[in-house]
Amino acid sequence: MNNSWEQNVRRVVPYVPGEQPKDSDVIKLNTNENPYPPAPEVRSILDSFDESRMRLYPTPDAAELTNAIAERYGLKPAQVFVGVGSDDVISMAFLTFFNSDKPVLFPDITYSFYDVWADVYRIPYQTKPLRSDFTIDPDDYKCENGGIIFPNPNAPTGVYENVEMIEDIIKANPDSVVMIDEAYIDFGGESCLPLIEKYDNLLVIQTFSKSRSMAGMRIGFAMGCEKLIKYMNDVKFSINSYTMNTVTQLCGAAAVRDEKYFRETVQKIIDTREYSKKKLSELGFVFPDSMSNFIFASPQKKSAEYVFTELKKRRIFVRWWNKPIIKDYLRISIGTPDEMNSLFAALEEIING
Ligand SMILES: *Cc1c(COP(=O)(O)O)cnc(C)c1O
Repeated sequence: MNNSWEQNVRRVVPYVPGEQPKDSDVIKLNTNENPYPPAPEVRSILDSFDESRMRLYPTPDAAELTNAIAERYGLKPAQVFVGVGSDDVISMAFLTFFNSDKPVLFPDITYSFYDVWADVYRIPYQTKPLRSDFTIDPDDYKCENGGIIFPNPNAPTGVYENVEMIEDIIKANPDSVVMIDEAYIDFGGESCLPLIEKYDNLLVIQTFSKSRSMAGMRIGFAMGCEKLIKYMNDVKFSINSYTMNTVTQLCGAAAVRDEKYFRETVQKIIDTREYSKKKLSELGFVFPDSMSNFIFASPQKKSAEYVFTELKKRRIFVRWWNKPIIKDYLRISIGTPDEMNSLFAALEEIING
């Protein structure tokens, strides 16, 4: 039954996140979380936090965290926007900058939140097919548009595009804001951050969820020219000023200051990823080269759906989408070497057993 008030509801089909199983005995390689804990200083922040500070509102501009990020990336605080996960940041950026009648452009195979934000904000969009090797054709992004966004490396493919190619796209689009979602850039790619000094229509978005092991804290940030950041803050402060709580601000600042721990953790994941590429090849998987903390791999001897289901029976979670073009692939997050070895033992059994 449709009640008459329902015709005025803002209806949307929501984003579907990867499963978060309740039991702790699973090997969880399905949501690209970091298998290592956050920087050790985060523990001391939590231990010494004075709960009477909870009486007070947090600083609305998340100054402590914004300043720490600005310092780490050699920027002014006014060039940094902080949000509750990069999902919050990107959503704010959609609302702020994608405000035209022309379609926003992004790849057909990409982060599946983009079309959801476009829908909820009633932003027209058009997807551009990736090439058969999952790379982006820059010429697809040289037509009239209301904005551009894609991740680099792309998700769920892991494919990295070089900075020259991205600059080519930015240069061709002075009339729209170009957003590069760098959720996975710390795992070996080169950030296009330096380009923000040259192009005032470039917004670079990063997150603490993957390379800094803090998905549960919800910290994301955007970097761009002061004008872009000011426009985003105007919209943000028109909705909810106090989105990020005090504890999160302090923990995030502590994490971003520990450069040594960050580099060591990222390097461990890169090493495990390279080892995992060899093992997956031996098991007959094919995959585009990955520069992220996951591998998008297609089993050749059994269907991806079958392997996904069999892994789940063995308490190993990976991600599989029942969607055209990608239904033959599994997205496998990089865990610890032990977790990956359990995965490879299970795969050996499922595929060759
Ligand atoms: C994980 C991810 C994000 C969002 O991460 P947050 O946890 O919200 O910071 C954004 N973009 C891509 C491509 C991702 O994979």
